[in-house]
Amino acid sequence: MSKPKIVVLGAGYAGLKTMRNLAKNLGPEEADLILVNKHNYHYESTWLHEVAVGTINPNQARFMISDVLNPNRVRLIYDEVVEVQKEDQRVILENGEITYDYLVVALGFESNTFGIKGMEENAFAIVDIDSSREIREHLELQFAKYNTDENAKESDLTILIGGAGFTGIEVLGELVDRIPKLCKKYDVDRHKVKIINVEAMPTILPMFDEELVSYATKALEDRGVEFRLGTAIKECTEKGFIVGEDEELIEAGTVIWTGGVTGSSVLTKSGFDITRGKVTVDGDLRAPGHENIFILGDCAWVMDEEAGRPFPPTAQAAMQHADTCSNNIAALLRGSALETFVFDDKGTVASLGTTDGIGTVLSGTELKGKAAATMKKVVDNRSIFLLGGPKMVLKKGKFRPF
Ligand code: FAD
Ligand code: NAD
Repeated sequence: MSKPKIVVLGAGYAGLKTMRNLAKNLGPEEADLILVNKHNYHYESTWLHEVAVGTINPNQARFMISDVLNPNRVRLIYDEVVEVQKEDQRVILENGEITYDYLVVALGFESNTFGIKGMEENAFAIVDIDSSREIREHLELQFAKYNTDENAKESDLTILIGGAGFTGIEVLGELVDRIPKLCKKYDVDRHKVKIINVEAMPTILPMFDEELVSYATKALEDRGVEFRLGTAIKECTEKGFIVGEDEELIEAGTVIWTGGVTGSSVLTKSGFDITRGKVTVDGDLRAPGHENIFILGDCAWVMDEEAGRPFPPTAQAAMQHADTCSNNIAALLRGSALETFVFDDKGTVASLGTTDGIGTVLSGTELKGKAAATMKKVVDNRSIFLLGGPKMVLKKGKFRPF
């Protein structure tokens, strides 16, 4: 009898961790394992703001998948997933197709522009290594050409960030560290550079308490960020954002949209039942009505029954989904009971550059400044450890002292 074929789509936090667990816990006689990912590397999505602004090299934020999974045990396919054909248990790839008995969809997030006119065409978004590297190169070019291009304008040195959620704030934190270095490198007067954030809500990061929010706001303002809070972005043109009721144009040479994310568009193309871009999964993380399909990470809404709303999509949650999913696939193969996902909230930290941050950890302890920045590095190194093991931590980990 042929062995069941388990196919995992995506090698991010959820997909890679699921496959590492399966490879460890299922014998070769129990199942064939196949991982499909667009690239031959895994990247740390949670480090992309550092890549985009140029704090770290793109290579520090990624590692080869074949370094952490044994290709003799797991068949590795580097290709783009186009669609899942559920009726035929088949996945269509850009360059082929593959069938499955059990499927794990862990294709992560895409930028969500909420249909704001011109945003997709004119603003950068931080979604993967390629898009982040492009921002880094663009930003550097604005400084490099300022003193040589006779058509250069002072607004070319303005950096406009749309949205002050976690991603927007972490980008601002990197920018305030990086801009003085770029000014020095390219002989640009720091006073000519503007960093402007536009946020529709009256505050940044509303999930933190008032004290931490005002700490973060002041820390960024003191280092040169101009906040335009309570200001909705209406449109993005080639020149910049059009904001507010009076449709003011804010001109900038670099425009980055960090106003929200949604699940992979493959879900919609594949005819899953979608709510705001994602599939609301059952307690055991399966897609409703599909006994052999699990949906994880940023592709899934996992309900927080107590709060009556889904848990926020995070890397922390994605890796925990992986553990439940791999246990449940083993249970299905072995005929035992499936477990229900229980989120173990270890806290949240937002960086404000390399040496500053805010956070709430270990059921309510609040951190700010260097303590938060240190905790963020611990979290980053833990993630590499869980996905790549101790050797990868030594290779890619963050150990530089302040
Ligand atoms: P991902 O990690 O995005 O992985 C998806 C994988 O699928 C990728 O390898 C991708 O290349 C691949 N893929 C996508 N589409 C296709 C396709 N069509 N075909 C083949 N392969 C495909 N969360 C936290 O908990 N803590 C943080 O500090 C934090 N910081 C963040 C900072 C930034 C700048 C951003 C953008 C997000 C941050 N998040 C953080 C959120 C976190 O990154 C996501 O919740 C997490 O990445 C979701 O994991 P995932 O496995 O679902 O998807
Ligand atoms: P988000 O949805 O959390 O924040 C987007 C922000 O953009 C919101 O504050 C929203 O009010 C604002 N916005 C939306 N439309 C706007 C408009 N038209 N004009 C002005 N402002 C507008 O998105 P994100 O920051 O990309 O985060 C996505 C997910 O990733 C979240 O679940 C977050 O928890 C996670 N994340 C976590 C961390 C961390 O833990 N350190 C870091 C980054 C991201």
